[in-house]
Amino acid sequence: MQNLDNQRFKFSLPSRGPNLQCRNSIIEVGVFIESDFVDCDFSNSSFLLAEFRQCTFTRCSFVKGFFQNVTFRLTRSGQFGRTVKGVTFTACNFEQFRSEKLWAAYATFDSCTFRKADLRGAVLGASKFANCSFESANFSGTNCEKVSFVGADLRGVNFSEANLVDADFLDANLEGANLRDSNIARSRLSVEQLKRAQVRSSDHHRSSWARSHLNADGTPKRGYSNVEEARLAKERYEARFVGERVSFYRCEVCGKWHLGHSS
Ligand SMILES: [Zn+2]
Repeated sequence: MQNLDNQRFKFSLPSRGPNLQCRNSIIEVGVFIESDFVDCDFSNSSFLLAEFRQCTFTRCSFVKGFFQNVTFRLTRSGQFGRTVKGVTFTACNFEQFRSEKLWAAYATFDSCTFRKADLRGAVLGASKFANCSFESANFSGTNCEKVSFVGADLRGVNFSEANLVDADFLDANLEGANLRDSNIARSRLSVEQLKRAQVRSSDHHRSSWARSHLNADGTPKRGYSNVEEARLAKERYEARFVGERVSFYRCEVCGKWHLGHSS
């Protein structure tokens, strides 16, 4: 085991082997390419202005760690750049982790815990979180477009004002999660999941609120970006299905306009 505790490193780390202990340290302006970190302890350490490419982290601890201006970059190799590799984290601990200007697009997180982690403002576009735990984590205002949260424990997570467009919540537990003012357009969320989440300040009409965004089969309704488009869609619909009447309304879930049968 190599001990690098309580130090300040610029440009890189002197060692990248397994069992590295690098607690209470500052790692500044580092570019890490094709490095594999196994059983390393970065708890209480800060990565500032760092970049990771094709790195893997296995059973590493980032407890109470801090990432500022950190980028996980996607690399393409092979013929026609078909092999795409992002940064991968397996069974890592991010409990009470904080980030500021984290750009983590296309990263993969498998069986990691983010309990009470603060990811406000992060860009996590198209990252995959498989079987991760996020209990009481803060994703407020985070860009989670196309993020996969399949099987995730998202109890009590704050997603207020988050971009959840095209996000996948299959088999995720959203009990008590805060989805107020988030954009869940085209995200895979069931009515059951929405009912368990907090979606507006007064939750009395929670289920009808959820239904106004979803079709009877639980898929999100087609959204029109403005009232004029919605009006034209209504006219087209009624011309096509003679005798049927639909109305259009502004959706409180995604902010777009939907058509619905008046009841
Ligand atoms: Zn909607």
